[in-house]
Amino acid sequence: MPIAQSLDGRLAILTSGGDSPGMNPALRSVVRSALDQGIDVVAVTEGFRGLVVGGEHFRTMDWDSVGGILHLGGTTIGSARSPEFRKREGRRSAVRNLIEHDIARLIVIGGDGSLTAADLLHREWSEHVDDLIGAGDLPPETAEKRSGIVLAGLAGSIDNDFHGTDMTIGADTALHRITQAIDALTSTAASHQRTFVVEVMGRNCGYLALMSALATGADAVFIPEKPPEDDDWARRLCDRLRAGRTAGRRDSIVVVAEGAHDRHGREISSSDVREVLERGMAEEVRLTILGHVQRGGAPSAFDRTMSTLLGHAAVEFVLTEDAGAEPQLIGVRNNRIQHQPLATCVRQTAAAAEAIADGRHEEALRIRGGSFSDNIDSLDTLLRSLPRPPRPDQRRLKIAVVHSGAPSPGMNTAVRAAVRLGLDAGHIMLGVRNGFAGFIEGRIDELGWMSVRGWSSTGGCELGINRRVPSGHDYYTIARTIEDRGIDAILIIGGWSAYRTAYRFLSKREAFPAFDIPVICLPATISNNLPGSELSIGADTALNSIVEAVDKIKQSAVAANRCFVVEVMGRYCGYLALLGGLSTGAERVYLNEEGVTLADLKDDLDHLVQGFRRGKRLGLIIRNEMANATYTTPFMAALFEEEGGDLFEVRQAILGHLQQGGNPTPFDRILATRLAKRCINHLVDEVENGRSSVTAIGLQGGTIQNLDLRDLPRIVDSEHQRPTDQWWLNLRPIARILAQSGPKPTMRSEM
Ligand code: ADP
Repeated sequence: MPIAQSLDGRLAILTSGGDSPGMNPALRSVVRSALDQGIDVVAVTEGFRGLVVGGEHFRTMDWDSVGGILHLGGTTIGSARSPEFRKREGRRSAVRNLIEHDIARLIVIGGDGSLTAADLLHREWSEHVDDLIGAGDLPPETAEKRSGIVLAGLAGSIDNDFHGTDMTIGADTALHRITQAIDALTSTAASHQRTFVVEVMGRNCGYLALMSALATGADAVFIPEKPPEDDDWARRLCDRLRAGRTAGRRDSIVVVAEGAHDRHGREISSSDVREVLERGMAEEVRLTILGHVQRGGAPSAFDRTMSTLLGHAAVEFVLTEDAGAEPQLIGVRNNRIQHQPLATCVRQTAAAAEAIADGRHEEALRIRGGSFSDNIDSLDTLLRSLPRPPRPDQRRLKIAVVHSGAPSPGMNTAVRAAVRLGLDAGHIMLGVRNGFAGFIEGRIDELGWMSVRGWSSTGGCELGINRRVPSGHDYYTIARTIEDRGIDAILIIGGWSAYRTAYRFLSKREAFPAFDIPVICLPATISNNLPGSELSIGADTALNSIVEAVDKIKQSAVAANRCFVVEVMGRYCGYLALLGGLSTGAERVYLNEEGVTLADLKDDLDHLVQGFRRGKRLGLIIRNEMANATYTTPFMAALFEEEGGDLFEVRQAILGHLQQGGNPTPFDRILATRLAKRCINHLVDEVENGRSSVTAIGLQGGTIQNLDLRDLPRIVDSEHQRPTDQWWLNLRPIARILAQSGPKPTMRSEM
């Protein structure tokens, strides 16, 4: 990157306000990305307090000072509330300390309070410099040399309440904690037919409450952005939960955001909700306030990678801009890193909070964006105790749901959402057992509202699945089944074989007119190797399983000099390997996309030997299962072991099927629900308009789009079963920079 020459000086980073998981990966990325550019980095400890006090709080960082912190929650450089910084004199003292420590660029990671403060510091900068020169606290030439500071902000907050980024650092991890807790409560609640009220964080933002309710299949949610419609909410809530019990539910979960209130602005606290339910339901109601558990623990895979990429982008911004640059918030928009003026983001964040406080809820929802409201609508339907009855004049379509491929966490969530949303729209939902093998055998049942109960949170695949792609006579049998059962449309949830099957249906239309119906594929495979979607359902869960496993593997090597070669799934797609490497700090990742040569292995071996000679104690290499047919995991492990001699030992870990199992992560559940909803709407629209497209739904650049599967051969590498264009390959350079053992040859390596 071309570094702005007009501004020499060091780079400082601080974490401020409430801590959030992901701050450490961001810190690591900032420190190493800057050192890699030859820029000195200072960490200011204890947030703005450190900035005001100065002295020992300004700590020079080297490559190793951020080693081994990727998996740690909180912030290793400390955070604090600083009343002094709220005062002008405090900020003036901060400016003096920054100048005295030769800081020209500053990166602040914090919540809305901290980022508001950072923006203020930037705006007041030159006034403080003038005052300090006037008072003789700084030499006059400072006015020119330090006429400003280049500033970037990263939003660190578990509440996801900051404008200018789709996700704040820590929100995904908090959602993991909440979802795990509600899953656990659900099982005990069901055993005793109990009702649980769960309070989650979010004073001005209902994100955590809404998304956790959506992900866990809760029965009701209270959020600040959308208070109950009328004053009779307590009676309606009890009626709804009672109707659920009559329909067969054994438990009820109600999620309440801290900032929930009624339409007059009066607080609805979690204990209010408990009281209402205890009176109205005449049964035991338990209250669980999750509190600070939501803030703690190891960051999720998403928080590690996102924070890493944001940290790198923040360094790029502050190094390439001059002193006059407007401060920017570095955030994620539509799965891409994006900058926005910090001042605008601060203003919009405050506007959302004010809109809620003033009871302008429509305005608050508008600021939150379309997908927030869309998720509220989905939740309104999914949490009904029964579907609305079909309209008398309505044509009730028969929509079949079938899996194809290998099990992927989130498949059940997608089926549940598709079935309930389809039933609620008045249609008949058919579940095909055991994939296309079951279709051929006619194993197709009607699915009712309660038949998918509890499926939002379970891993595996309740309907059953296999990889069979129909061939030969199968098409005749399937066509007969479509006709006999009067199937109007098909939703295929699965991986590569799902897409191939749908594509083949197209070519069979001439021979079998029964195939002239709309078909849609919903991407669900841990490998994330499907065209038309940047992410497939299950990949996030698999990535988190990899990250948890590798964290444990790394901990197992506290004493010895060890190098691990970890093999991950993904077939010919290196997504899990690369993102797994980025999230765990692997120093080398082998992908099929790049291939592996003997020369690579020799270089990597030399690199390992040098690292261990310099004092490194742990090595980590991640290998995609299909990286190279000859240089297998056992081969690599044996080669490194032999050549490592007495210097280090090598162990291999083939993670295997643990990657396909486990309950889906909140992200996979939410994506499954969003995509399933769009699939059902699309299929109904196609039939009602006499169309019969064969498409695949997917997330592209943050929006949900349909891919025409007639284009399939053009956009995939069939031999390797992956899209020809894979967006995540662009992340390789960053992964490489951060995985180096250091910018200078004298440095010891991380981990
Ligand atoms: P968060 O960043 O998590 O929202 P706070 O709101 O507590 O946390 O802010 C963290 C720190 O940022 C405060 O302790 C204070 O030092 C500083 N700060 C917050 N708001 C302002 C403000 N309006 N003016 C000056 N400093 C502020």
